[in-house]
Amino acid sequence: MRYLVLSDIHANIDALDAVLEAAPPGSYDGAVVLGDLVGYGAEPNLVVDRVRALSPVAIVRGNHDKVAAGLESAEGFNPTAQRSAAWTRDALSRETREYLVALPEGPRVLDDLVEICHGSPVDEDTYIFGELDAAEALAASRRRVCLFGHTHLPTTAALDASRSLEVLFHRAHGDQRVTFSDGRRYLANPGSVGQPRDGDPRAAFAVFDTEALAIHIQRVEYPVEQARDRILAAGLPKPLAIRLMHGR
Ligand code: ZN
Repeated sequence: MRYLVLSDIHANIDALDAVLEAAPPGSYDGAVVLGDLVGYGAEPNLVVDRVRALSPVAIVRGNHDKVAAGLESAEGFNPTAQRSAAWTRDALSRETREYLVALPEGPRVLDDLVEICHGSPVDEDTYIFGELDAAEALAASRRRVCLFGHTHLPTTAALDASRSLEVLFHRAHGDQRVTFSDGRRYLANPGSVGQPRDGDPRAAFAVFDTEALAIHIQRVEYPVEQARDRILAAGLPKPLAIRLMHGR
């Protein structure tokens, strides 16, 4: 199976469409979505329509999806994220809200090899930022490979069980193919489609090939100015538009 792995789209239709053009039907066997379809960006309904049309083989909700759907309050968000969450709640169509409400909680086992989650297999809202988080996540994961999102940073981490339980934590930059050699347990984050935070404004996604045991993290240019202008025109907080330009 070749899984198209999408995470943290954040209502950025321009970025999502560029990714779907770079990874057309036929270049993968099924789509996997790791949550945060909405929040921050200006096109939540369009993005959810596009995701539904992909008929993902697996999907989990993100923290922004929960707040937008009214399942959780925006209390823990910073003021900018709170304003964006309030805007998103008002902008959702009834169909979109119902879809978001019904999104399953992670982690979820996908097949014999792969588990998926938004934050971490420890908890759907937990971040994996470094070796320690990765070690806890690898211990909690029920499969050899766990795909995660939430940090908006393309990452792979491996646990070498045959050696001193050392966790190898790696931030991916640009296009990167990582092979999951036998005997190890892996975590992989494809990066964020709609709000990259690693200093590279290009949209990020990945294709994971279960037979080759390889994940290909990729970056694709998209009309960032268009996404920026949509945010400004919608009356969303300005910093959300500016950060897209810088990939921060
Ligand atoms: Zn996110």
